[in-house]
Amino acid sequence: MNLQSTDKKYIANTYNRFPVSIVSGKGSVVKDENGKEYIDLGSGIGVTSFGVADEIWQNAVKEQIAKVQHMSNLYYTEPCIRLAEILCERTGMKKVFFSNSGAEANECAIKVARKYAGGKYGENRYTIITLNNSFHGRTLTTLSATGQEHYHELFTPLTPGFKSVDAGDLEAIKKIHAETPAAGVLIECIQGEGGVLPVDKGFVEALSDWCNENDVLFMVDEVQTGNGRTGELYCYMNYGVTPDVVSTAKGLAGGLPLGATLIGEKAQDVLGYGDHGSTFGGNPVCCAAALSIIERIDDSFLSEVKDKSRAAFESLSGAKGVESVSGIGLMIGIKTKRPAADVVKESMENGVLCLTAKDKVRLLPALNIPKETLLRAIEVIKTACANV
Ligand SMILES: *Cc1c(COP(=O)(O)O)cnc(C)c1O
Repeated sequence: MNLQSTDKKYIANTYNRFPVSIVSGKGSVVKDENGKEYIDLGSGIGVTSFGVADEIWQNAVKEQIAKVQHMSNLYYTEPCIRLAEILCERTGMKKVFFSNSGAEANECAIKVARKYAGGKYGENRYTIITLNNSFHGRTLTTLSATGQEHYHELFTPLTPGFKSVDAGDLEAIKKIHAETPAAGVLIECIQGEGGVLPVDKGFVEALSDWCNENDVLFMVDEVQTGNGRTGELYCYMNYGVTPDVVSTAKGLAGGLPLGATLIGEKAQDVLGYGDHGSTFGGNPVCCAAALSIIERIDDSFLSEVKDKSRAAFESLSGAKGVESVSGIGLMIGIKTKRPAADVVKESMENGVLCLTAKDKVRLLPALNIPKETLLRAIEVIKTACANV
C-alpha cells in the first residue's frame, strides 16, 4: 500500500491533506517524494522560523540530545533556565512557564488569570473575555476561549466562564465585566486563523488601559504572531502596550514542540508549587533549539524581516486578482478574486507552498527566507491570482 492510502487507513481523519509527501528540505526549499522542489511560504504554519534543517538549529539540537534528551522537572536543567532568562530580558516579563503547544500556553494563561482574580477578589471573578473570530487552540478550554461557534458545535458542554465580543467593542467588555466580573482578557493582536486581521491599534491601547484600571489581566496570544514573525520579537511591541501575560509557541523552537507562558510583574507570583505542571514542558532539547532561534532574532535580523515585508506588500498590492493585502511583517493575508483554495492549489502545482486563513491566502515564510526567493515565490502566487 502506498503511503497516502496507509495514512487514510490508520491516521484519524482530522486533516484534509494535499496529495504531496514532503521528505526533505533546506531553508525555504522543500522536496517531495518525487524530487519536485517547492518554495515553502507556510513554514509548517509559522513553526520553522529559520527554515528546514537549518545548520545552527540542528547543531543546538544535536549537542543537547547527546547530553540529555529529557529530565523531569524535579531537577534543574540549563536550557530552559537560559531560555526563560533571555525571554524575560527581551520582554520585561518576570516569569515563564514552559509547556508543549500553543493551546497549553493559553491554558496556563487562563489558569493564571483565574487564580489571580479568585485569590484577590473571590471566586465569582473568573470570566475570561476573548474576541469573536479568534483562535486559541483545540483543547476543550481553549476551544471555549475561541470566539468561533463552528469550532464549538460538536463538543459541548464547553468550559464555562468564557465570553467573546467583537474586536473594537470596549463597551461590550465593560458590560460583561459589570455583570460577570472578568479575571482576564485574552486577544490576538493579529487574528491569524481568523483571516490575518490586525486588531485596531486604538482599541488595543484602550483595552490595555481599561484592563490596568480594573485590575483585569491583559493577556496576548502570541502563538502565531510571536518570535519575530511581525518584525518585532512579539507583536504587542508594534502596539506599544505592556501585557500582563503573553502566550507563545509555534515558531519559538524552530520546529520542535514548545509552548511558553510569560507572566508579567502583576501576576508573577500567582503560580505556586503544584498549581501547574507538564511532564515534557521545558524539555532541554526543545529549549536548546529555542535558544538557537531567539538568540538570532536581534534588531538587525528584525529589520531584515521588516524590509522583506515591505517588498512583499509592495509586490502584492494592486496586483491583478488581488483585492487587498493584510498583516504585519511576514504574516501576510491576501484577499484574492479567485477562491483562496484555488490559488493555493495552482501555486503548489507551480512549486510554491502557501496556506489559507478563512477566505484569504496566507503567507508565513521562514523569517530568514532570502528576499529574492520570497519575491520569486510571490510572482508564482500573483500569476495564480491573475488567472481569474
Ligand atoms: C496555532 C494557534 C494556537 C494553537 O496552537 P497549538 O500549538 O496548535 O496548540 C493558539 N493560538 C493561536 C493564535 C494560534 O495561531
